[in-house]
Amino acid sequence: MATLYSKPADDEPAWWFVVSSDHLFLDAAGEVPFGCLQELSFPGLDEYRVVEIGELRERSCYLVMADYLDEQFTGGEFAPLRQLLAVEDMEKFAMAGRARQFSDFLNTHRFCGRCGARMQAIEWELAMHCNQCQHRCYPRVSPCIIVAIRKGDNILLAQGKRHKAGLHSILAGFVEAGESLEQALEREVYEEAGIRVKNIQYHLSQPWSFPHSLMMGFTAEWAEGELHIDPHELITGDWFAFDNLPMLPPEGTIARTLIDLSQKR
Ligand SMILES: [Zn+2]
Repeated sequence: MATLYSKPADDEPAWWFVVSSDHLFLDAAGEVPFGCLQELSFPGLDEYRVVEIGELRERSCYLVMADYLDEQFTGGEFAPLRQLLAVEDMEKFAMAGRARQFSDFLNTHRFCGRCGARMQAIEWELAMHCNQCQHRCYPRVSPCIIVAIRKGDNILLAQGKRHKAGLHSILAGFVEAGESLEQALEREVYEEAGIRVKNIQYHLSQPWSFPHSLMMGFTAEWAEGELHIDPHELITGDWFAFDNLPMLPPEGTIARTLIDLSQKR
């Protein structure tokens, strides 16, 4: 579990996740900096909030909360977190996502949402606590369903408004308060594509820190209804034959894993 305000000894090699908004500091090789504090060209960290957020390959991982594109960090640059996806090291990407989520949590919970007093960090777990009214907050996690829908030898793929040009993916959406995952899935599919599905099967999950989703991955089969793509959420969408697929999300993403799983069934 994460501990706040901890820092390793100057000679302890560690992973450093320096976060500024949704940017992460990467070294000259485009990697997450690894090494002892005394070797790295970091500024003194006394004025920074440093949080131990876990372990990667038996070494501690630290989140350093930096100001927006902080110029005191040299020998590399702040890059959008998504850029790490291209490095294809999912373990490291997941830890970077964790760092980003914690940083976001601390930045947005300085004051109590109930009484407005300043909140204090808890020492033994990652939480913020209000000593005035005892309200306690934990990092937010938002469950989200993502589903690959098959119809015979075809799969439903759509271009979202936020996808890069040409990229097609499967449907996804947030779970609303009071809904089960299955209800959320059926509602989202009907709203976004106008169809009903059957044989809903859960497969796997993946944290997706943009900004704090937990993607729950399903496959399903078309049951009834004509495709009717919701223009508010999607640009285009259609059934695509498995032997003629458009540009897909990269390997390692849950969307791609579900598309591949769906094809094998
Ligand atoms: Zn309070």
